Amino acid sequence: MRDLANWLKSAPFGRYATPETFRTCCVPGRGLGRYNREAVQVNRIVGQGDGVSMRDILKYRKQFYEKWLDTRVFCGRGDDVEVVTEKVLKVLERFHSSNSETFTTTRKNDAIGDPKFFSDVVVEGLAPDGGLYVPAKGFPKLEASEWIRLADASYSERALIILEKCIHPVDVSPLELRSMVDQAYGKNFASEFVAPVKHLLEDQYVLELFHGPTASFKDLALQLMPQLFAHCLPQMCNYLILVATSGDTGSAVLSGFSRLKESDRERVGLLVFFPEDGVSHIQKLQMTGFKEGNARSISVLSDFDFCQRSIKRMFGDSSLVGHLAVEYAAVLSTANSINWARLLPQVVYHCSAYLDLLKSGTIGFGDQIDVCIPTGNFGNAMSAVYAKQMGIPIRKIICASNQNCVISDFISTGRYDLRGRKLIVSNSPAIDILKSSNLERFIYHASGGDGGLVRDLFQSLEKQQCFRVSENLLKTMRQEVHGGWCSEEDCLATIHKVYSKTGYIMDTHTAVAKAVADRVHDRTCPLVLCSTAHHGKFAPAVLKALRSPNVPDHPLEQLKALSSFGGPEQMHEALYKSLQEAACQPHTMCQPDFEVLTDEVEAMIQDCFLKAR
Ligand SMILES: *Cc1c(COP(=O)(O)O)cnc(C)c1O
Repeated sequence: MRDLANWLKSAPFGRYATPETFRTCCVPGRGLGRYNREAVQVNRIVGQGDGVSMRDILKYRKQFYEKWLDTRVFCGRGDDVEVVTEKVLKVLERFHSSNSETFTTTRKNDAIGDPKFFSDVVVEGLAPDGGLYVPAKGFPKLEASEWIRLADASYSERALIILEKCIHPVDVSPLELRSMVDQAYGKNFASEFVAPVKHLLEDQYVLELFHGPTASFKDLALQLMPQLFAHCLPQMCNYLILVATSGDTGSAVLSGFSRLKESDRERVGLLVFFPEDGVSHIQKLQMTGFKEGNARSISVLSDFDFCQRSIKRMFGDSSLVGHLAVEYAAVLSTANSINWARLLPQVVYHCSAYLDLLKSGTIGFGDQIDVCIPTGNFGNAMSAVYAKQMGIPIRKIICASNQNCVISDFISTGRYDLRGRKLIVSNSPAIDILKSSNLERFIYHASGGDGGLVRDLFQSLEKQQCFRVSENLLKTMRQEVHGGWCSEEDCLATIHKVYSKTGYIMDTHTAVAKAVADRVHDRTCPLVLCSTAHHGKFAPAVLKALRSPNVPDHPLEQLKALSSFGGPEQMHEALYKSLQEAACQPHTMCQPDFEVLTDEVEAMIQDCFLKAR
């Protein structure tokens, strides 16, 4: 004990840790002390009574420990004293060496420059060198005994333990993280399991990622990300986040930011621009329901490109930026799909899917599984790579494309080639993609962190519209990912086939994954299909696939028609309700004029934040 005390005294303190904060970091922390003094005069062991076991007492006391803990020692099932002691030391060391968990960028080839911490990369999004941020030392690994213990935990608990390992407590304390995670994965999800795994057919399982408020897997990231973002933003200013969207991102991001806590909503706002004729009817209704408060949408009588260009122009307009800063202490910001805080929460559901299979006895810990993912920006697939790095035995990650198959072509040939490629409109629009931004993180990972190579490749993509990786690198990549694509007919036929066999209705993206999995999976281990959207979101195409005699015009009628196939239990209540509410009110449309858009930005800032002076 004396050795430990000496070691603690001589240990260098991290970024914000002072001897004072350090003293409180041992588990249980200062909270227990306070608790003991104030409340427990007579009965020192709370809850102790005749016949109450130590296990029950500890279970009861956990809530009090958790109220004040500064850092957690997570023990696995069956850990002995030595293992626990070692873990305590490791956790303490991590707690006070907060400077050690830094981020690097995928395009960096030397190590100069200020160290970047979690809070920095969340606020910055894109790195100044054009690369994407990744943890400098990779991902923390959990041990088998720890995963096995997590199999019994709820989704929120799994998320909390996994995220605590990936976010230093100095950046977000476990208490703050718990409140964020509870807010993110609570009653707003229609399934108490948040991301349940269901058996489909034979060795195939479906990971349902669509039970959130906007019915796509983007909710899993975007119910949490705004909270992390607001937490990391400096306190001095108001922030207006601008997003241009042509798809599912809009509603998910609106829902996430509108659910921030009161004190954050007063200083963090979100404005989404979308093309009036460039989104589906359902997507439009999902967005236009948000038109007050700190998160709003405005449709523009133009295309997606105009919306995106206008936002970029606003960031570069120094007189606008200066005016907003002086008048309203307001800063413009973005929150796009390459943000680290968007990717990280997605690691959790891949781990959770494996733990569910473990819990149900389908696999034993260590058995491998394959996952098949409808892939666009590669965020979902990349988070599966990270889950694997944390110790989840994922064998192959199968990236499924529709006819816009630039990614699956890349995985089979090593050539990423945009020349002559035009986006073809499909029934699975969320994976209609040319530039797959998170792929950069994967190439960085597969090349063993060769920032110079990544920079060359992506500069070549910008200049020559293509790049090619070496045979060696391709081989390494293909040890982890496979690719495949399916036609539009295949996609719709798959929906019909699955429905006929099982009564289960898939959305068009999940169907792409299913069609590809059926073709490339070798059936030597179970396979998890990532279901990234509820079928109601893509109702017209799904009704067509189910050979519905007629497809009603209005989304609400379409959803009702679908429930005549799937039954009321397959209806997405939150989706239905949000469409119902939005359908009763007109939405704001604006002319495709830069000045008009900046006026909207200023009006929102005036309305949303208090004037600085
Ligand atoms: C965004 C989205 C995808 C693509 O996910 P990535 O992480 O960009 O690969 C797939 N399916 C649906 C329904 C989506 O909304």
